Amino acid sequence: MVTTADQNLVRKFNTAVVLNTIRQHAPLSRAEVAKFTGLNRSTVSQIINTLLDRKLVQETTLQVDRIGRPGLLLELNPSGGFAIGIEIGVNFLSLVATDFLANVFWRQRLKSDARDNVDTILERAYEMTEIGLEKGTAAGLQPLGIGLGVPGLVDLRHGELMFAPNLGWAHVPMAKLWSQRFDLPVFVDNEAKAAAVGEYYFGKSRGINNFIFLNAGVGLGAGIMIDGKLFRGSHGFASEVGHMVMDKNGDLCGCGKRGCWETQVSPKAVIRRFQETLKQGVPSTVLLAADNDMDNIVFETIANAALQGDNAALIAMQEVGEQLGLGIANLINVFNPEMVILGGELNYASEILLPVVRQVISRYAINLETQDLIIAASAHGRDACVMGAVALVLDDILHEPKF
Ligand SMILES: [Zn+2]
Repeated sequence: MVTTADQNLVRKFNTAVVLNTIRQHAPLSRAEVAKFTGLNRSTVSQIINTLLDRKLVQETTLQVDRIGRPGLLLELNPSGGFAIGIEIGVNFLSLVATDFLANVFWRQRLKSDARDNVDTILERAYEMTEIGLEKGTAAGLQPLGIGLGVPGLVDLRHGELMFAPNLGWAHVPMAKLWSQRFDLPVFVDNEAKAAAVGEYYFGKSRGINNFIFLNAGVGLGAGIMIDGKLFRGSHGFASEVGHMVMDKNGDLCGCGKRGCWETQVSPKAVIRRFQETLKQGVPSTVLLAADNDMDNIVFETIANAALQGDNAALIAMQEVGEQLGLGIANLINVFNPEMVILGGELNYASEILLPVVRQVISRYAINLETQDLIIAASAHGRDACVMGAVALVLDDILHEPKF
């Protein structure tokens, strides 16, 4: 016997299928939606009328569809609502507010200090969110939800940040705190996993079902997409690639262990390698620009100097690039991805890093694994995670419509 509950479930499922078909293939006529989805015309029409009512879909001006018939075609409506995406970084807070097509209409980025306590940092993030919500409402849009990318291990069932090594946070009930504060749907995920979802929706890996996204900032995280689904492991903590041990006698990591990959591959590692290179007597223009004070040297200065051909800067970037490439070669051998995307602060110097990474991969990954492999920089640069946080909100509407 088919119950009302069953019918509701089927309708929601079909609505999700129609919405995603329009998202991926717009502009489309109703006949084309029926053809793509395999649903009958009257079901499609009913669903589309609901989507038009809810302003999630809109009709274009008169156009000719793929079958050659003129009519009003369908596409997602940018005014379908707005999403807030937030990244709680180790030393910054970043927020974007976007429309339903992920066009950014408001952004804010502030420095933060990992030595501050959880409440202080969250309070600043709440204030940024309040401004983002005001901007969206002022633009006449309905809030759809808040997405949060955090630098640590997340329990997805409860939206709890279990452990963030570089922040020193443990067991922070993020989803609970944020939904109490804002009374909106809240989605929490690891920063790199969120970024991978963002690239899949509206970045470099649209339509690519097997890829690895690597986010290299203070920490090094990954989102691994396998057959179009994010690989999560048995407790949801999979793909902590930054803590693969590369050197058991290496530097101390934020996780408490030694020689993790992320101690070798980060902006901080570039600074450290650069300082060691200077001590070995390699000349550089960077030290002069920093008033001869090693402590004044920041990653961007070294990256810019490397771009201008500074020897010591190039050596430091080359060495970190090699370590990055080595770890990626191992991941390629395990996962055989179609694409590897690099994001995060380290990506600022992708013009220098990517050729080194490609070279190391060609040396260490099995040849068969690297056929047609694409190594690319993130489409969103340092916004990779916040755009991913937006994707978490949109993904929920697109896959689990509440009507
Ligand atoms: Zn570690």
